[in-house]
Amino acid sequence: MSDFPIHSVLARCAEAVKDKAPAAMFGLRDEGYGSLYEQLISSLISVRTYDETSTTVSRRLFATARTPAEMVRLDREQLIQLIAEATFAPAKADQILTISQQIIDDHGGKTPEDYEQLVAFKGVGPKVASLALGVALGYPIIAVDIHVHRITNRWGYVATANPNKTRDALTEKLPQDLWVEINRVLVPFGKHVCTGKYPKCHSCPVVDDCAQVGVVG
Ligand code: SF4
Repeated sequence: MSDFPIHSVLARCAEAVKDKAPAAMFGLRDEGYGSLYEQLISSLISVRTYDETSTTVSRRLFATARTPAEMVRLDREQLIQLIAEATFAPAKADQILTISQQIIDDHGGKTPEDYEQLVAFKGVGPKVASLALGVALGYPIIAVDIHVHRITNRWGYVATANPNKTRDALTEKLPQDLWVEINRVLVPFGKHVCTGKYPKCHSCPVVDDCAQVGVVG
């Protein structure tokens, strides 16, 4: 679908969810937690955790520690308590402490602004690194989560089997000015309109452009 009007579609999706809570990382950035380190840590916290919980947990953590130096002053049990509502809190606490210490020891206390260096940290995968770089620094990297994957496949804009393949396909065809925007828009759009089950196609603003691939009923 090379003539898919992606700019117009994304603009209509954005309009449909403009009053909804923003995706967690974008919301935190807009609240002032926008450093690369804060975005990296909150993105890590958000893995397999609901957006609302990620936001609450990140706010609580950053009220106590917002830099690698402040983070490593916390002991492990204290950190686990602070992020207890996130899934896999003990494992994430260990990762956060390890990453923070590595940033101090190997990078002079400054979070590296480089994708390959970020994914070298334990627990930091492509989505976490892409989201952190994209939201904190506006790097043109596409962060594909389950919402972006599901919706772009339903549109028929891509035809891929998993989020990593979707990222590769989008990197090939999505205009670069939308690489960060697509995640910002499609996370709330996927929660409120193009939901996993029972998408609201009857009231969807992009139904005329959507191939509704795999949508039943
Ligand atoms: S028409 Fe349905 S499947 Fe297509 S984007 Fe809208 S809600 Fe999703």
